[in-house]
Order: sequence, then structure tokens, then C-alpha cells
Amino acid sequence: MTTPYILVAEDEDALATLLQYNLTKDGYEVVVAQDGEEALMLIDERAPDMVLLDWMLPKVSGIEVCRRIRSKTESRNLPIIMLTARGEESDRVRGLDTGADDYVTKPFSMTELTARVRAVLRRIRPALAEDSVKRGDLVIDRVAHRVKRAGRDVHLGPTEFRLLDHLMQHPGRVFSREQLLDAVWGSDVYIEARTVDVHVGRLRKALNAGEEADPIRTVRSAGYSLDLEG
Ligand code: CA
Repeated sequence: MTTPYILVAEDEDALATLLQYNLTKDGYEVVVAQDGEEALMLIDERAPDMVLLDWMLPKVSGIEVCRRIRSKTESRNLPIIMLTARGEESDRVRGLDTGADDYVTKPFSMTELTARVRAVLRRIRPALAEDSVKRGDLVIDRVAHRVKRAGRDVHLGPTEFRLLDHLMQHPGRVFSREQLLDAVWGSDVYIEARTVDVHVGRLRKALNAGEEADPIRTVRSAGYSLDLEG
């Protein structure tokens, strides 16, 4: 499977960096454009698999970038998620027929954004979004929200599901509690790091109900990782 390439057109440095960091972590190749002109130039150079497009961009506005993308044969079907600010601006964007595939209103959580990215990619380029992932005797189905271990159904709450999904995307990698909080709960919510331990505990209990070996490794003072043989 090729790595999906996402162009992020966003002039707020902090947000662009955060998007680049989180999408790269999720396995996408990410390039940032700081204004509309640069975005159009980068799209001409190499067609992305998706564009995250800020509505208020310098030089050429997001809405104009969207219009130009749609007016060209070669980029007509390029998936676009529009990033808009809360309030009037987002209502206006939604009211206009911009041709965007989805809209996300700022501020948003990274969890929400990456879920939308996956959903749009799945709808438009099914081959780019893996619906189900298998690691060892574990299978996670992101569409049906189902998990199986050694053929047995594993019932998980939504948080445990996202936690497992994240760990399964990076088997063997150790994540600190803070990293898991960012990835699973989103960086804009305040939750104590101890909460992670509670949810890891629940996830473990559900996964190990069949008395197979515990796939979650606790790394003392560092965090957690998923270690599956085979
Ligand atoms: Ca902006």
C-alpha cells in the first residue's frame, strides 16, 4: 500500500505543525503550504491524495483554491476537507457550494480530524484507507467497530477501541501516557495521565479474557506498547 500524500494549506504555524505532526504519526506523507498560491503550485507539481484547506488563506483564499482545484480536469476529484473558524465563517462556507468533501470547524481535536480524513479517504479512495488491520491474533475493523482476538469477539468501549487502534498502528513502539492522551483523547482536553492506566487496564482485561498472552507491555516509567508475536 502506498503512503497517502496529504497537502495541508494552513497559514497558522502552530496549527500547521500540529496537523503535520499528527498526520505523519498516522502514516500519511504531509506537505504544508502557507498560502493559497503555494498550495496551487504544489498541487500542480504533484497531485496529493487529499487537501486540508484553510478557508482564510493569504494571497489566494481557500474558497478560490477549492474552485480552481475543481475547475481542472486533473484535480476535479481531489478530496478536500475545508478548515473553517467557528461561527459566521463556517456557516457561510457551508452555505456556498464550494465543492469541498467535508468541513471541520476550528477548534477541533486531532482525533476528530484524523477520523474525518480517514472517512473521506475511505469514501473517495477506498484503497488508501485500510478498513481493517491484523496484527498477530488481533483484528480491528474500523468500519464495523469490531475487534476479534483469536477469532473471539472482544467488546470494547469507544476509548479502549481508539487506544487499541492507535497501538495497533505502531506495534512495538512505546508510547508515554501523555502521547496516548494526545493521540486518543486529543490534545485540547485536560485529562489526568492516570486515566490512561485505567483504560489500558480495561483494554487488557477485554483482550486477555481468553487467557492468551498479554499483548500490552508496560514499560516502567515510560509507558505502554503493543507486542505481538508473529
Ligand atoms: Ca488562516
